[in-house]
Amino acid sequence: MKAAADVGIIGGGIIGSAIGYYLTKMGLKDIVLFEKDYLTSGCTGRCGGGIRQQWSTSDNVKLAKRSVELFEKYEDELDFDFEYIQQGYLILAFTDDEVRDFKKNVAMQKKHGLKVDLISPRQAKKIVPFLNTNDVLAATYCPTDGLANPFLTTFGYAERASEGGMTILRKTRVNSIERKGGSYRIRTDKGDCTVKYIVNAAGPWAQEAAKMIGYDIPVEPERHQILVTEPLERMVCPMVVDFYHGFYGSQEKRGGFVMGESDPSEPVSYKTSSHWKFVESISKKFTYLFPRFSNVKILRQWAGSYCVSPDAQPILGPISADDPNYFLAVGYSGHGFMLAPATGEAIAEWIVKGKPLTTDISHLTMERIEKGDYSQEYNVV
Ligand SMILES: Cc1cc2nc3c(=O)[nH]c(=O)nc-3n(C[C@H](O)[C@H](O)[C@H](O)COP(=O)(O)OP(=O)(O)OC[C@H]3O[C@@H](n4cnc5c(N)ncnc54)[C@H](O)[C@@H]3O)c2cc1C
Repeated sequence: MKAAADVGIIGGGIIGSAIGYYLTKMGLKDIVLFEKDYLTSGCTGRCGGGIRQQWSTSDNVKLAKRSVELFEKYEDELDFDFEYIQQGYLILAFTDDEVRDFKKNVAMQKKHGLKVDLISPRQAKKIVPFLNTNDVLAATYCPTDGLANPFLTTFGYAERASEGGMTILRKTRVNSIERKGGSYRIRTDKGDCTVKYIVNAAGPWAQEAAKMIGYDIPVEPERHQILVTEPLERMVCPMVVDFYHGFYGSQEKRGGFVMGESDPSEPVSYKTSSHWKFVESISKKFTYLFPRFSNVKILRQWAGSYCVSPDAQPILGPISADDPNYFLAVGYSGHGFMLAPATGEAIAEWIVKGKPLTTDISHLTMERIEKGDYSQEYNVV
């Protein structure tokens, strides 16, 4: 264990790894990443890998759009095949209220330069010929949305960050943090390390890591279940999202359909078991939308925890004015994989250059939560 470092990152998921990568890319070498288990053992390894820019808040659109610009370069930049495909996202509207909201969202997204359109059910059927559009009133479609492999993306970041000087300590749990002058002493089960900056990228466990220096941050773990079917011939199907019934599903590069749902009755918990009720419920939704696939076999089901914030947007930046060197990158509310590139870059810029320069994240700090001055993100499954 190194006795001291410039930055200590708590969490070896996509967020901690992305921040580590950008810190090393910006020239900082003295970084230690603490992971209590193995890289991707948290939410990242349970994620659907979807990358969507069609959000209802400007901040999420900006972050997702910047992330896609970065994802598009990663195969060369990280020198890693992370199974990235841009096969679009098709979002379905089933009510007049949804059509009204989708129109508003598309206008806002276009202002940010996103190539996205409000389309008719007939156009939606052209994009996904086997989709049941009988009850669909309209849809939105963005062809540059896509998918990637969350394991490979994390490993790509981690490998490049290790080459850049970051030390990755697997199976090393951060148990407590002590303030020490202007620094922090991180106490782990393998020894102590004193750092100038801490980044809390602990995903669903973010609240525990904040309590270690006495803060109660408003994020909570919430179970979400997901499954994959047997592989089918590739049909180049975009991710189909249906907020009304609470469904998302898409065909991954290897042929299986990956799908998940939202369950409003899910309580706050760290549970990651998956049950029959989920299979029953999602099968009904899937076969309603894709009747042709009613005989497809399920290969595997699993679950993971979202780290949910009050407005379903990430909480980024210093935890408070009293602890300006303790950074949060938490509360991604089910969309942390796709926002990792832009938020990793922004947090690294904040630490190395004193402020985020590429993407404006000033509305996403703890301040908005404390003041209750925030925009709710509604496009969440
Ligand atoms: C079913 C499901 C589907 C999803 N689908 C998508 C999707 O399609 N697209 C998308 O963008 N997002 C999706 N998400 C959300 C996405 O997975 C998360 O937002 C993202 O992985 C968060 O990454 P993270 O690095 O913050 O958290 P994590 O991956 O959970 O990483 C945090 C890490 O911190 C470690 N840790 C915690 N406490 C400590 C400690 N005290 N000491 C040391 N280590 C510690 C944990 O072991 C863990 O590995 C999905 C999530 C689920 C559950």
